[in-house]
Amino acid sequence: MHPFARYEKQILFKPLGQSGQKKLLKAQVGIVGVGALGTGMANLCARAGIGSLVLIDDDRVELTNLQRQTLFDESDIGAGKAQRAAEKLAGINSEIKIEAFNERLTDANFVDILSGCDLILDATDNFATRFLLNSQTLSSGQAWIYSGVTASSGQCMLINPFDTACLRCLIPEDTMVDDFPSVHNSGIIGPIVTIISSVAVSMALRYLVENHIERDVICFDAWDLRCHRIPMERTPGCPGCRA
Ligand SMILES: [Zn+2]
Repeated sequence: MHPFARYEKQILFKPLGQSGQKKLLKAQVGIVGVGALGTGMANLCARAGIGSLVLIDDDRVELTNLQRQTLFDESDIGAGKAQRAAEKLAGINSEIKIEAFNERLTDANFVDILSGCDLILDATDNFATRFLLNSQTLSSGQAWIYSGVTASSGQCMLINPFDTACLRCLIPEDTMVDDFPSVHNSGIIGPIVTIISSVAVSMALRYLVENHIERDVICFDAWDLRCHRIPMERTPGCPGCRA
């Protein structure tokens, strides 16, 4: 069988093509958080033939996750999310490499786990880890995609250190996120998770295939069914990228 047989329809999409598929198969992508956004992103990345995936999550599957965490089913309750997701993904695409880390991302393990990644996808549910990703990637130079979902709305932003705005250009102080709505107090509906994980993987595919840097924040609401873009530039005096 042709080595690209499973990607036949994706290769027919002209902006991607066979040369794009080769780039995807050579790429390594890290996914930080293997919950709602992370399972959606990992599913799309594995099927698209991202050659190497690194999954990080220290959490276990719970019944209340099944409403929106699309790689898991009832038999997975109690299992470690990263490891179980890796097992499911291996059944979807056995030709890619998948590493699972059942631990929390910290400043101490960032380099060991993620230094080989061409792109890192934020699929966390907390700003502490996002600020960690922001500062670590400003040191490493790696591009990453911030994604967030709450209630029926969500947004994605590609961050290319010292080129695009960074997360600190938007949120200079830790305390600014204290009053942000969260899944814990505002809930969440499944469709916005699927939409935002798809937006992030679209940005990722185009970045890996064409080195395209999306400079707008892309926002969706899955209840009003509205979408909009917010142009973003580095903020002078940013405490992160020091624009
Ligand atoms: Zn900045």
